[in-house]
Amino acid sequence: MNIHEYQAKQLFDKFGVASPKGIVASTAAEAGAAAREIGEAGLVVKAQVHAGGRGKGTFKNGFKGGVHLVNTPEEAEDIAGKMLGQTLVTHQTGPEGKLVSKVLIAKAVNITKEYYFAILFDRVSSSHAIIASTEGGMNIEEVAEKTPEKITKEFVNPALGLQPYQCRKVAASLGLTGALTNQAVKLFTALWNLYIKSDCSLVEINPLAITDDGKVVALDAKFNFDDNALYRQKDVVAMRDTTEEDPREVAASEFGLNYIGLDGNIACLVNGAGLAMSTMDIIKFHGGEPANFLDVGGGATKEQVTAAFKIILGDPNVKGILVNIFGGIMDCNIIATGIIAAAQEVSLSIPLVVRLEGNNVEAGKATLAASGLKVTSASDLTDAAKKIVAAVNG
Ligand code: ADP
Ligand code: MG
Repeated sequence: MNIHEYQAKQLFDKFGVASPKGIVASTAAEAGAAAREIGEAGLVVKAQVHAGGRGKGTFKNGFKGGVHLVNTPEEAEDIAGKMLGQTLVTHQTGPEGKLVSKVLIAKAVNITKEYYFAILFDRVSSSHAIIASTEGGMNIEEVAEKTPEKITKEFVNPALGLQPYQCRKVAASLGLTGALTNQAVKLFTALWNLYIKSDCSLVEINPLAITDDGKVVALDAKFNFDDNALYRQKDVVAMRDTTEEDPREVAASEFGLNYIGLDGNIACLVNGAGLAMSTMDIIKFHGGEPANFLDVGGGATKEQVTAAFKIILGDPNVKGILVNIFGGIMDCNIIATGIIAAAQEVSLSIPLVVRLEGNNVEAGKATLAASGLKVTSASDLTDAAKKIVAAVNG
């Protein structure tokens, strides 16, 4: 799960991560009022979307830049009016862009130097990693590729947590000294606490800035949260903005389904992540391309199966469906009932191959056969894959 920059700033305030004062606004008038409240001459108006590269982005109507420095409340209001309700395209949004429905009005600072700073999971080392670079405000992937020597990596033992010496080491690698080091150490520590206590999998500050009055502040924020820990992060879940997410994945999560959209044309509906992976493999092995990963879980209900079907069929690329169920906890007859209900509701018109095995399989097969639905039965995984690939390609 991701959040907006203005929400990240609320977490910064809670955990004591220094960042310029900001107020979110949904209308131009609110933006003007926010600017008056912040009450300083230098302000910045920032489009709020779940994507980076806003500064260099362009709106579909031609207006340039999702981050603008302004000097008066009137100007803030004017710029906010140009951004709100418009679609911003950046290198991270894809060509379709993202609709801006909120802007952040923040106090502008005079930057003397920009850095990159992030904390993330590092699966390779089974620890957390601090990534820092003197090349702030830039695309970090590009820095990693062209000038990897400008990136510092410091691993953090999950049992020990981030140690003060490590913070000082990272600060030194950025060339910071004296009072700036102390401020950086304070900020890194606060950000580490935020990262751990909020179950983040990534916090990225790009840029972390030094100001002309000698302050170290976070000017941007990108957060990823560990979805498996959201059950204990009610405040974080309250920040979720589903309008920013893939609508198919939002619908799937509402029904407790694990769905990932892919580029192929054979939709898969499977119970269990391992079986779902093998199903995608065997489709590919027989010359097909899966349209999605979909795990309906061990004990799916009829409603979940119906929802799964609707999500699958919402993808215009889908030319055929392969249902592969091994009834362990799952009752095959429930799957069969769900398939029929869903097929009737969506008036299914594409090939459907079903492989059922396990608990109550005879009843499931009988239910399908009695339904009058055009279903191709398969005896095993290979048979199922061959049949759906033939149906879609033929
Ligand atoms: P993005 O990464 O999406 O382009 P940022 O928040 O990083 O958005 O903003 C882009 C640039 O705008 C920053 O690199 C920084 O130079 C400038 N900027 C952002 N916030 C402020 C601020 N509060 N004061 C001054 N400059 C800012
Ligand atoms: Mg940035």
